[in-house]
Amino acid sequence: MIISTGTRAALEPTPGLAEAQPLTHVEALELDQIPEHLIVIGGGYVGLELSQAMRRFGSKVSVIDRNDRLLHREDEDVSEGLRSLFEDEGIDIVLNARIKSVSGKSGEAVKILIERKGVSQTLEGSHLLIAAGRTPNTADIGLELAGVELTDRGYVKVNERLETTAPGVWALGEVAGSPQFTHISFDDFRVFRDDIAGGNHATTGRQVPFCLFTDPEFARVGLSETEAKKQGIAYRLFKIPMEDVLRARTLSETRGFLKALVEADGDRILGFAGFAVDAGEIMGSVQIAMIAGLPYTALREAILTHPTLLEGLNPLFASVPSVPHQSIQMADRHQERDRSEKKLA
Ligand SMILES: Cc1cc2nc3c(=O)[nH]c(=O)nc-3n(C[C@H](O)[C@H](O)[C@H](O)COP(=O)(O)OP(=O)(O)OC[C@H]3O[C@@H](n4cnc5c(N)ncnc54)[C@H](O)[C@@H]3O)c2cc1C
Repeated sequence: MIISTGTRAALEPTPGLAEAQPLTHVEALELDQIPEHLIVIGGGYVGLELSQAMRRFGSKVSVIDRNDRLLHREDEDVSEGLRSLFEDEGIDIVLNARIKSVSGKSGEAVKILIERKGVSQTLEGSHLLIAAGRTPNTADIGLELAGVELTDRGYVKVNERLETTAPGVWALGEVAGSPQFTHISFDDFRVFRDDIAGGNHATTGRQVPFCLFTDPEFARVGLSETEAKKQGIAYRLFKIPMEDVLRARTLSETRGFLKALVEADGDRILGFAGFAVDAGEIMGSVQIAMIAGLPYTALREAILTHPTLLEGLNPLFASVPSVPHQSIQMADRHQERDRSEKKLA
C-alpha cells in the first residue's frame, strides 16, 4: 500500500484567523473577482508567486512574513532581489511581523493586528490569503491502526527507501516529508518502483532543483552560499549581473543575476542559482553538466548559440571568481592561532 495524501495549507491557531475564512491557494486560483486589497500571510513560494500575480491583475497587495527577509532560507542577494522587485511593483512587504489576531472575513473586510519589534500595527484589506507553510494530510485516516508511525511534525515516518514503520506500506511525496516539489514526488515514485522490483534505490543524496515562478524566476540546484558556509565547504563564487547576458539585453529583461559555486581546489560545480528571466531553463543546463560531472571550464569554453540565455553561461564561468570563501575563514583561524601561540611563547 502507498500513502500519498500530500499536504494542505497550514492554519495557525491565531485568534480570529479560522473565522476570517482566509483563502488558500485553492480558493485564490478560483476567484472570479480581483481582490481590492489582498493581504498575504507568508513570504515563501506560494505567497510570493500569488502576490505578484494578483498585483499584476490590479490588486493592492501586502505580504506579511515573520522573518526578516523574503525566502529567508536562501542567500541574502536572492532575498534582496525579490524585495526590490516587489517594491518596484508596488507590493507592500511587512517583515519581522508577529500576527496577534485577525478580525473580519476574507472577501468582505479583514483587519490584522501585528507586532513588529514590540510595536503594534493594524493592516486592513479586503481579502486574506494564507500561505504560511503546509500541514501533512495524515490525521483521521486510521494510520495508527495500521501501525504507521508519524514524526513529531505529523509527517509519515519513512526510511531512505520510503518504507513506513508498517510492513508493506510506503509513503511517497509531501506526506512523507519529501521536499515539496512535484518532480520530487515523482522521483519518490521511482524509488518505490525500483525497490519493489528488487532494486536498491534510495532518496539519499539526490539533487533537488527548484524554481520560484515569479517574473523573473529564481531557480537553484546544488549548494547555496548559505548551505556551503554552514557545511564548511570551501568554494569559489562566480557571479554576473543579467546585464552581462546579451540575450537578457535583447529581451530588455536585465534584472537579476546568475551565480555558481565551484569547489575551491578543483573544477567541480557545487551549485547554481539564477534570479533571472527563464532562470529555471538556464539552471537545467547547469544541472545536466553537474550530473555529467563536467568541470565548470566546459561551460566556460562551450560554443553556445548567440543570442540565447544559455550563452550567459560563458561570461558567468569566465568571470573572475571570489577568493575561496572557507579559505578566508581558515586563514583568519590560522592567524588567530599564530597570535595566541605567540602570546603563550
Ligand atoms: C500554489 C502551489 C504552487 C506550486 N507550484 C509548484 C511548482 O511550480 N513546481 C513544483 O514542483 N511544485 C509546486 N508545488 C508543490 C507541488 O504541488 C507538490 O509538491 C506536489 O503536488 C506534491 O505531490 P504529492 O503527491 O505529495 O501530493 P498532492 O499533489 O497534494 O496529492 C495528494 C492527493 O491526495 C489527496 N488526498 C488527501 N487526503 C486524502 C484522503 N484521505 N483520501 C484520499 N485522497 C486524499 C489530495 O486531495 C490530493 O489529490 C506547488 C504547490 C502549491 C500549493
